[in-house]
Amino acid sequence: MSTKLLLLEDDPAIARTVAYALERDGLAVTHSLLVHDARRQIASHRFDLLVLDVGLPDGSGLDLLRDVRNAASTAALPVLMLSAHGEEIDRVLGLELGADDYLTKPFSPRELAARVKALLRRAGHNGNGTAAAPTLFHDDEAGQRISLRGQPLPLTRREYRLLSHLLRGAGRIHSREALLAAAWGDDSDSTDRTVDTHVKTLRAKLREVDPGREYISTHRGMGYCLDV
Ligand code: CA
Repeated sequence: MSTKLLLLEDDPAIARTVAYALERDGLAVTHSLLVHDARRQIASHRFDLLVLDVGLPDGSGLDLLRDVRNAASTAALPVLMLSAHGEEIDRVLGLELGADDYLTKPFSPRELAARVKALLRRAGHNGNGTAAAPTLFHDDEAGQRISLRGQPLPLTRREYRLLSHLLRGAGRIHSREALLAAAWGDDSDSTDRTVDTHVKTLRAKLREVDPGREYISTHRGMGYCLDV
């Protein structure tokens, strides 16, 4: 199965050169010119990576990024943002909203292809479109069990979903809202505080297996990150 990428870009010339560079690297590129088309694509297809322009005729790539991060099914998806020269505020916002990387126009297609490859590597893609689990942890998704250094962790159902989500997006900061959506779904009784409480017990359980290491880091005002 080939690696699938969605490119949201309204400038046809940029889209063409970018798509050409990425397809040459063996990626399957779907191109959207408008935010609403990109939303439709994301809702109906599985992508391995998104490349989002910020300024589009029908909205902002940043709004789409926010929604992608807040939906459980796409929260861990690698995202690279593109923006017009000198839009520093877009860069800051993009990273705050959880973009994994950022390129300012004009950029060379080769530079973009290199960044895309680096992101896919970081996300654990081994070239055939499937993600490789970090070796320290083993996530048995069918059995809803996770082991650390070969030792099964005694996790509750929520803790399992929380840790599994953090693992799939290891190395990336996850907002409390995204974690809430991933582990609690639409359970309206849950709040940001619920996430904090569960992260605390999760840390304690990880520490019992591996006392010398802190796996989950707190990023003030932004969320949590699993470092492996
Ligand atoms: Ca644009």
